[in-house]
Amino acid sequence: MIPQDTIAQIFESSRVEEVIQDYITLKKRGVNMIGNCPFHNEKTPSFTVSPTKGIYKCFGCGKAGNAVNFMMDHEQMTYPEALRYLAKKYNIEIEEKEQTPEQVQAQSSRESLQIVNSYAQKYFSDQLLNTDEGKSIALSYFKERGYTEETIKKFQLGYNPSKWDSFTSSAIKAGYKEEFLLKAGLTKGEPKKRFDFFKGRVMFPIHNITGRVIAFGGRILTNDKKTAKYFNSPETELYNKSKVLYGLYYAKQSIVKKNVCLLVEGYTDVISMSQRGIENVVSSSGTSLTEGQIKLIQRYTPNITILFDGDVAGIKASFRGIDMILKEGLNVKVVLFPDGEDPDSYAKKLSKPELEDFIDTNAKDFIRFKSDLLLEDAKNDPIKKADLVKEILATIAVISDEVKRSIYMTECSSRFDISERALYNELNKTLRNNFKSERRTNDYKTEEIPVLEYKEEQKSSISLDSGLDHLEKDIIRLLVNYGDVEVVFHQKSEKEEEEEVVITAAEYIIHTLENDEIKFENSIYQKIFNHYSSWVHEEIKIDVKKLFLNTDIDVVETVVSLSSNKYELSLNWKEKHNIYVSTEDMKLKFALEHSVLALQLKKIEINIQEIQEKLKGIDDDEEMLILLTSQLTFIELKKMISDKLNRIILK
Ligand code: ATP
Ligand code: MN
Repeated sequence: MIPQDTIAQIFESSRVEEVIQDYITLKKRGVNMIGNCPFHNEKTPSFTVSPTKGIYKCFGCGKAGNAVNFMMDHEQMTYPEALRYLAKKYNIEIEEKEQTPEQVQAQSSRESLQIVNSYAQKYFSDQLLNTDEGKSIALSYFKERGYTEETIKKFQLGYNPSKWDSFTSSAIKAGYKEEFLLKAGLTKGEPKKRFDFFKGRVMFPIHNITGRVIAFGGRILTNDKKTAKYFNSPETELYNKSKVLYGLYYAKQSIVKKNVCLLVEGYTDVISMSQRGIENVVSSSGTSLTEGQIKLIQRYTPNITILFDGDVAGIKASFRGIDMILKEGLNVKVVLFPDGEDPDSYAKKLSKPELEDFIDTNAKDFIRFKSDLLLEDAKNDPIKKADLVKEILATIAVISDEVKRSIYMTECSSRFDISERALYNELNKTLRNNFKSERRTNDYKTEEIPVLEYKEEQKSSISLDSGLDHLEKDIIRLLVNYGDVEVVFHQKSEKEEEEEVVITAAEYIIHTLENDEIKFENSIYQKIFNHYSSWVHEEIKIDVKKLFLNTDIDVVETVVSLSSNKYELSLNWKEKHNIYVSTEDMKLKFALEHSVLALQLKKIEINIQEIQEKLKGIDDDEEMLILLTSQLTFIELKKMISDKLNRIILK
């Protein structure tokens, strides 16, 4: 924890132009300075730094922020990392809060593991490059795979000799504790019979985001089918498999620059692609992506392209996992490789431009890809086709951006030749079922918990809040992405005539929610809402980029992570089906009305639930009557809003 006044001091002392000039050249231009933007490729400089305001802004790509944001964005640092970096640069001392003995213990165990892994990496590299066995067996294997010396050094590849315990005994001789060699999974066996877990394998170090080695993968050199081709380090305090992506350390800058992350199967795919000059590649190491890994990618880009090698059964098996990626709000594309090829082999066959071109032309939007694949199966079988529509709708149902979702609905309607109205009916059934089964599982769990009252309460408030958070997020997402877009609404004038009003999406959201005095449970969302509210009331131009300069880093992070490339979808769309573009405005209107109503509805449901809780413990007749009356009011309100919501959905 860095004390608050130290943070303020860091913000005050940091000279944005000095911080940036460590990375790019700036030229003076009036009161400002300009240079070539480090976040996108450009020939004429549009990256402007204002030393007086303490900020930078690129008029080409829109990146903007203060010195802290720059370090976070450019160097992919976390907030504390950026603060520490700047503190060091400006000689500001950070007095850390004292740690508890447990924290010290955990810290030193992590550190010991770190040191052991770092030693192991150097040992394995040395064995590979400087010993006879390493050179003749392992180095030649890597060379055969086509890896250059530069690649081998970059990825810090190595070799664990085949002798029983060469690594273990050398580590012990060098003073490393057996306890940590065992914990790191590098050493196995009984006391006095310790041996190297990875003996006889070539080694692929796994790095964390700051480039430190936290684990290893090791591959056998023979084609011996009796042992597994790959061994991997066990999980430790340092290495949580579900939160690590292989190659991310090398890929992050390129991911940000290209604004897309390519996902491949394993070590060799990452390395071969990188050697070919395509660096925005990571791997989840043989397993399907976890939520933690998706969140990790989301820090750098909202776009992910999955590179599949040919096996259709395997691809179908991964559909569920991909739904999860969509649920997190990422845009997913898929590239299918020709039979018998994978990114590793293809990167060796094609030149860089050929490979880039192959990925570009073959990247298909996931939902389209899934429809095509399933449609091919169903051919003209109507029953199969009905099932398949349900499947696709199940995928569309997980997308939480209403605008995106409705665009897919339109596409789905034309592709399967089913009216949009019928599709919405079906989609609503799916959404309702999802909701019900969510509730059912929650209820079930509640029943299983022994009747400890406080626990039950916690449980119910958690399940309620999670739904609420989702709805609140939907609204903030609309604010951030479409706040400045104008929408036409129809309303009755004083003379009861229909009249058109053109207002921004932000105005619609702010006015409607403030009218109902709705507050957000999530305090960060409330803060973002307040910013938009003051812009609307003070008639300041709605511009999400202004929030990127905010010193409240939670606000910045949320805004950045919720703002996607809003035009990407519609632009792609335009090229392919320009007839639908004109309805974009309609979709936004639908999304606005729907998400506001859904939040209102949820708030009412929570009120009703609270009243019911109170009713349980009440004896006083009068109080009960008051509660029952207000419950009735809420129930009527609820019915009214549900009707409105249904009308909108069926429109
Ligand atoms: P080959 O030379 O036989 O093609 P390979 O080392 O390229 O072997 P593949 O069987 O082709 O391995 O595996 C595909 C990808 O998945 C590779 O990038 C590999 O590194 C990775 N991989 C395979 N098995 C595992 C595993 N158990 N753990 C982690 N990564 C794995
Ligand atoms: Mn392979």
